[in-house]
Amino acid sequence: MHEQSNQRNLCTGKAQKMKELTDDLLQKIEGIRDHVQEFRNEGRTFFASSSFQTHSLPMLHLLGQIAPEMPVYFIQTGFHFPNTLRFRDEVAKAFGINVLNIESHVPKVQQRDAKGNFYFTSDPDYCCFLNKTQPMQPLLERFDIWVNGVRADQNANRKNLKSFENTPQGGMRFHPMLDWSKQEIWQYISIMDLPRHPLDAQGYVSIGCEPCTMKPAMGDEREGRWVGQNKTECGLHTELISK
Ligand code: SF4
Repeated sequence: MHEQSNQRNLCTGKAQKMKELTDDLLQKIEGIRDHVQEFRNEGRTFFASSSFQTHSLPMLHLLGQIAPEMPVYFIQTGFHFPNTLRFRDEVAKAFGINVLNIESHVPKVQQRDAKGNFYFTSDPDYCCFLNKTQPMQPLLERFDIWVNGVRADQNANRKNLKSFENTPQGGMRFHPMLDWSKQEIWQYISIMDLPRHPLDAQGYVSIGCEPCTMKPAMGDEREGRWVGQNKTECGLHTELISK
């Protein structure tokens, strides 16, 4: 009885907060809800993936309400900050989402170059392929739709993406946050009072694997990743799209 009343208060609180969002955002949220319902009506299977950064949280928070049955995959490269793993678990619990890990089938002892160093030191593209792109491929074969939170305003490559894209495996990608601006993301986080990745407070902006993440000098959203290398993407949003 007590639990039921707590649940009711939680829902009322959430509904109150939703009213503070702009009409534009509410419309975008309705659009996501409609698409997910369409997938269900058509009997299509879907999953989401997330890196569990603070700016990923609006999508996860919405999916927790719109599609709690949707599995959310976290790519466990083995090189994440321990803070990210703790944050992933806290968010999963708080949002009621079903988080599952996927990882490379290539053991770390076989992920070293001729000098015996991990590939991220000499060939980060190959390291990302082994630890991120390749582990995603079986999911793209198994499910009809991959939901992920890329946004058009994050970099030049993402600017050219569409809300729906085909995958090389014959499925589809759905980008529900593509037209959300950085300001809208932070407005949602603030109004809904979402938690923050603990490394935000230390000045990190884009947080991926520990060896390839630095604090940015300028504070741009994707700055601080693969610093000093001619690389801005891990391949998930370039290679896993039908060209
Ligand atoms: S981000 Fe760095 S450590 Fe992580 S998979 Fe890519 S190259 Fe390897």
